[in-house]
Amino acid sequence: MSEGRRKVVIVPCSGIGKTYGTVSREAAYEVTEDMRPAQAQLVALSLLVLGDEAARAAVAGSPAVTIDGCKLACATKMVEESGGTVARDFAVLDVYRRHRQFKPKGIAELNEAGHELARVLAEEIVAVVDSLSRDDGGENA
Ligand code: SF4
Repeated sequence: MSEGRRKVVIVPCSGIGKTYGTVSREAAYEVTEDMRPAQAQLVALSLLVLGDEAARAAVAGSPAVTIDGCKLACATKMVEESGGTVARDFAVLDVYRRHRQFKPKGIAELNEAGHELARVLAEEIVAVVDSLSRDDGGENA
């Protein structure tokens, strides 16, 4: 297997207490745990805020996809401040605007529409991860 291929870093905002923040984290988990575990890796915003070395090294060495719950764009700003490159920044509100049938509600526990919105967002992120991985890959195993 090809070792050494960089994983795309996924950084959701921490949005604790906000529905869109919960959607951003759920989408990030879906991508990194279920859909593309070999190509994508989650880095917690809280670790970047704390200056955790491993988290900073991960964002410094790989393209990042950020997911923000509101206009303050904490995840995007923090990746940039940590020396990372934001390949694509998603805003949950924009995704919702494109899919208004999925109105998320709930914080600790999302409603069904919130799960659906997270799934749609996860699919959009996967498309970006796949294209970044293609750009980065190319060697045969
Ligand atoms: S981007 Fe908005 S929702 Fe997310 S952590 Fe920052 S302030 Fe909270």
